[in-house]
Formats: sequence, C-alpha cells, structure tokens
Amino acid sequence: MSSDDNQPLPPPPPPPTLHVPSPTPSQPQPTPSSPSLFGLDVLFSNPVFAGGMGLAGLGAAAAFSRRAAIRGVELLRRQMLVNVEISKRDPSYNWVLAWLAQPREEGGFLARRITRIRNLAITTSTRSINNAAQDSSDRATHADFRVQPGYGRHIIRHRPGVYIGVNREKASTTQTATGEPHETLTLTLLWMHRHVLSELFTEAHALSSRFHEGKTVVYTAKRMEWMALGKPRLKRPLGSVILDAGVKEGLVADVREFLAARQWYTDRGVPYRRGYLLYGPPGTGKTSFIQALAGELEYSVAMINLSEVGVTDDLLAHLLTQQPEKSILVLEDVDAALVNRKAREPDGYSGKTVTFSGLLNALDGLAAGEDRIAFLTTNHVERLDPALIRPGRVDMMVRIGEATRFQAAEMWDRYYGDIDLDKSGCERFIKRLDELGLFGDNADPAVPKRHTSTAAIQGLFQFNKNDMEGAINMAEGLIPRTFEA
Ligand code: ADP
Repeated sequence: MSSDDNQPLPPPPPPPTLHVPSPTPSQPQPTPSSPSLFGLDVLFSNPVFAGGMGLAGLGAAAAFSRRAAIRGVELLRRQMLVNVEISKRDPSYNWVLAWLAQPREEGGFLARRITRIRNLAITTSTRSINNAAQDSSDRATHADFRVQPGYGRHIIRHRPGVYIGVNREKASTTQTATGEPHETLTLTLLWMHRHVLSELFTEAHALSSRFHEGKTVVYTAKRMEWMALGKPRLKRPLGSVILDAGVKEGLVADVREFLAARQWYTDRGVPYRRGYLLYGPPGTGKTSFIQALAGELEYSVAMINLSEVGVTDDLLAHLLTQQPEKSILVLEDVDAALVNRKAREPDGYSGKTVTFSGLLNALDGLAAGEDRIAFLTTNHVERLDPALIRPGRVDMMVRIGEATRFQAAEMWDRYYGDIDLDKSGCERFIKRLDELGLFGDNADPAVPKRHTSTAAIQGLFQFNKNDMEGAINMAEGLIPRTFEA
C-alpha cells in the first residue's frame, strides 16, 4: 500500500439542495384578470364615480319597479276590466252614441251621466210638427239638441256604483270609404259589471228602434258606402200616393205575395228576388210610391242613381254586397246604363259610369244579393234593352203615367174633400181640365191633346190650400210649358 493511500479523503461535497423561493403570504399575488390590472379599482375608489354608479343603480331599480307596476296594472286591468271596442262601421256605434246622448230625468244628462268629461258634442235634429202634411214647404219644425260625448275619455255613471269608461277616438290615418276619418268607441267596465253591457246594447237598440218607429230610412250611395240620407223620414202613407185605378193595389199585392212565398223559392232553388220596373214621365209618383211601399212594409230604401257620374260597375257590385238589411233596392234612371253603353262605343269603356252588363250583373249575376226586392225606374222605357225584362231581373213592368181623371178626382178629394161636401167643386175641376185637353182625349179637334202630371196638380192644390175656387181658376197653369231655345 503506498503512503498516498494513507492520506485522509477530502470531505464529500454537500448534496445539492433544491431552492424553492417561499411565497410571501402578506402580499396577494395579482391575477391577470383582476381589475386592478386596468386600474378600475381606482375608479371605484373615486367617490364621484361610486356615487354615479349608485344613482344609476337606483334609476335602474326605479325603472324596473315602474315597468313592474305598469305590468301589474295591465294585468289587473286584464283581470278586472272588460273593454268593448265598437267601430263606426258597426250599426251599434250610432245606437250607443244615441244611448249616451239620451236626456236623463233628474238634472239632465250632464248631471247624472257624465262625472268626468273633457269634450262634448252636440247633435241637432229637426222634425216637422205638422205630421200630416207630407210635402208642404212651410211646415213648422222643432229642433232637438242632444249632448253626447265628444272625442276623448269620459267616465259615466250608469247607475249608483256602476261606472263606464268611454273612449271615443278618431283615427288619424284610416279613413272610411266616404273619406271621413274612421272612429271607434271603447267602453270599459269592471269585469264584475260585465252584465251591464248586454243591458246597455239592448237599451240602445230599443232606443234606436223607437227612434225609427213610424219612419223610413233612405240610404244613398256615398262613394263606397251606404249613407242614410238625412234623418229618417216620417213614413209616407200609401194612401197619399195616388196612382191610376188599381195600379197601386196590384203592385202592393204582388210584393206582399212575394214576401209570403220565400219557402216556394227555397224549395225550388230559385233565387229569392223580385224586380219591378216603373216607367213613365217624371213627376208621376214613382219614387213617392216606392217610399210609401217601404214604409208600409217596414223596410228602408237603398237608392242608387245610375245616371250619376262615378257610379261604376265595380261600385254598383260592391254596394249590392253591402245593401242595408231589410231594404228595397231602387235603381233610378236605369236607361243611363244603356245610354252610356252607346256613348262609349267609339272610344271604349270610360270607367266612370255603369255599363249594361254591370247592371245585369247587379240584377241577377254574381253581384246580385239573395233575398231582394228591386225597383228600377226610368223616364225613357224606349231606351231599354229587352234583355233587361226577364224573370229575376224585371218580373213586372208598370207604367206610371200622366194624371188621369181618376187621379185628379182622388187628389181633389184628399185636399178639398172636407169642404167640397157635395162634390160639385170636384166635378167643375175635372170639367175644366177636360176643356183644357189635359187628359189627352178631348174630342174637339180645336183642343190640343196634352197631359199634366200629378206633381203639377199637387203643386196647384198646395198653392191654393183650402181654396178650391182658386184651384179651379188657376187650372190653366197645369198646361205644360214648352221652352223655346
Ligand atoms: P217621379 O219619381 O215619378 O219623378 P216623384 O214621386 O218624385 O215623381 O214625385 C214628385 C212630387 O210630386 C212629390 O212631391 C210627390 O209627392 C208628388 N207626386 C207626384 N205624383 C204623385 C202621385 N201620383 N200621388 C201623390 N203625389 C205625387
């Protein structure tokens, strides 16, 4: 063994130690997502910013609670209230307005009915005091003024404890076919008072029926809609229209027979329609007869004048689909459809007036309504096309002509019957008309053959009220005047 072998060994190197830096718990380690990273903590620590945030929070809370309150009220409204919206197009619109306008016994409408109101509207209606005089121009009139809710919201006390909210609104954009703005009436009631609605509508309907009792409504076409022509008129008694012997009775009997024969038509699958053509010179009572007939049958009259510019085939077809319930359709001046056809031939369809095919379509084509009585009138029967006179289009043609002896005597009786007790006045009047050749059959060749109208005789009698001598003396005025150009 060498000496070197005996030398002591150097101490072994210390084992390598792993150095892990110990975390300092006193200083939290920032994470990359911490706001402090972007300095927002600074913002939050800013009292102005923090105050703003607080206010914003309060605002949001207020908005939330407001929305919640609105929702709550809406929910409550839906649960507790009932709304009925009535369009102006619905017939009940006017009934309900009239119901709202009816005068109250105690203290009047304002005191009892409207407890909170913003707008009022006045409706004025005039009526004749002398009901018997149908055509006199100097009838006294009486005016009724009714206060009804105007546009806006109103609250009405229907009876103690029952209130009705009324909102009458005029739409700013939508218009009715007549060009007037559309309107709606909304009635609001407590759900528990909903039964009042049926009471209200029943009362309103009864009120409207009472108002129309003894009256005839005449509708005319205004643009695309039927509109009542003025206020309902007092029914014209059939007896006040004097047609030649048996003519009126024949017509009335035929219409009654038709009305009684609905089942007959249904059983045979025949459209339940009847058409009448009244023709003859103007002023002979055609229109008056139709109005009196409508009154007698408790129908209204729906009248269209075919000679009016603007009454096109489309309009006519449209109006017939909307014809008012229980009304007699009157197509005046039907010859206009044929005249127009001829006038249009060279330059084609002008689109402004009714064509003959438009008229036929209205009478028995697709546009024709079921369950219908139509009266056609014309002063020029010679211009009509034979195609018009066919069952279902025109079933009965009646000439309403110039005044006959029979009519002149009947009219005399209506005006002077109570003072001309021995009828001698009537005899002298008829004799005078004969002398003037006004019945068209005077045998004397020196007397011209001419005629007068019942309208002219009525004018003479109205001018000489209660003065039969005056009427006889002025009979010459019945001679038709000829105007020279
Ligand atoms: P038309 O329709 O034949 O042209 P109207 O019925 O319009 O005639 O009559 C015009 C006016 O003359 C009305 O005021 C009406 O009262 C009166 N009149 C005409 N004919 C008669 C008649 N036959 N009976 C009673 N009044 C008549």
